[in-house]
Amino acid sequence: MALIVQKYGGTSVGSPERIKNVAGRVAKFHAQGHQVVVVVSAMSGETNRLLALAKELSSAPDPRELDVVVSTGEQVTIGLLALALREMGVSAKSYTGGQVKILTDDAYTKARILNIDDAAIRSDLSEGKVVIVAGFQGVDADGNITTLGRGGSDTTGVALAAALKADECQIYTDVDGVYTTDPRIVPEARKLDTITFEEMLEMSSLGSKVLQIRSVEFAGKYKVKLRVLSSFEEESQGTLITVEENRNMEQPVISGIAFSRDEAKITIQGVPDRPGIACQILGPIADANIDVDIIIQNSGHDGMTDFSFTVTRGDLDKAVKVLDRVKSAIDAAVIETDKTLCKVSIIGVGMRSHPGVAAKMFRTLAEEGININMISTSEIKISVVIEEKYLELAVRVLHKAFCLGDSGGEDEE
Ligand code: ADP
Ligand code: ASP
Ligand code: MG
Repeated sequence: MALIVQKYGGTSVGSPERIKNVAGRVAKFHAQGHQVVVVVSAMSGETNRLLALAKELSSAPDPRELDVVVSTGEQVTIGLLALALREMGVSAKSYTGGQVKILTDDAYTKARILNIDDAAIRSDLSEGKVVIVAGFQGVDADGNITTLGRGGSDTTGVALAAALKADECQIYTDVDGVYTTDPRIVPEARKLDTITFEEMLEMSSLGSKVLQIRSVEFAGKYKVKLRVLSSFEEESQGTLITVEENRNMEQPVISGIAFSRDEAKITIQGVPDRPGIACQILGPIADANIDVDIIIQNSGHDGMTDFSFTVTRGDLDKAVKVLDRVKSAIDAAVIETDKTLCKVSIIGVGMRSHPGVAAKMFRTLAEEGININMISTSEIKISVVIEEKYLELAVRVLHKAFCLGDSGGEDEE
């Protein structure tokens, strides 16, 4: 008998029929004698609908109240799934994040989980009940409702699996595993049987939304056995996220390609080229809880320089407001913004031992006339910022150039 945490995403619970399908799957595991904790997302489209409603009433909604609104989507699905299971004769009980007591910090809309009280869940499991927990939400120390950021139900699932020391955390979604890239953009994308935590962390942080990055961080930290599977297929083994590097002769140099449309670039022109400037610019940005991604400072001329960095599009207005405040202190001339960009990244632990990967990526893009705006590299990834209109073309040609679609082996030149 195993303890399994299963998380079902929005599409998997997108209609009463689909909720019945999920209930059937859960009931099957339960009947096999397993203890099952189910985490569910809101029905597909619901979180977007709730966000749009809030925006209709307020152009910059108060984050605490926004979390009160958007957390309701998950409350509907936990209740519906519990009803569906009870109709099948399975004893099931639903919990909101607050009812479990998933304690988070108070960073509304992107809160972090600090602690999970597992007492009630354990007691229900020992009585043979299926426990259903609302994804994406928690409460802060003062009892305020918080949410964990888009895609946060993955993190609820993995955090619960860690707290309960579950045998496995299964993330059920609308694709049957992690692919070499988003199969909706490249139909030739290939399903990976395994992917290392390191690679999955990069894939998630660089925009592949199949797993929220924090869920991968949690799984790595607490050694949770994590698998991505389809809720619509019966037999697939999905993709296992592994600690081990599958190092052999066939190890591909590149394992996958991720992309993000959620990029905005800020350039501060005419900044004095002196020590402390980067800190004067980025310190207040960090204090405003804005994540900065790629940073470029060009070499100075006449004692002046240009300073560019990227943030998510949602944070752009907030970042510009912060910079307007510090602009005079740093003697900056002009602040420019650009929302027409995207980021495309190639990822692979095999890159460590293979020189020439960057050159091949840049050549492939150049052959298509795609101009590179910014570049950022690490040991196992290369990211480029390009115009958004070239996103799909860039992903497709890179996927082909690195031979990700067929046997997975790379064509060495
Ligand atoms: P859920 O609602 O189940 O959480 P998401 O929409 O958040 O599902 O994530 C699943 C989607 O992630 C897929 O439908 C797919 O379009 C997208 N995706 C992006 N990159 C990848 C990838 N490398 N492998 C698989 N799916 C990916
Ligand atoms: N419902 C939330 C979202 O759409 C959380 C999730 O689905 O993981 O982002
Ligand atoms: Mg998701």
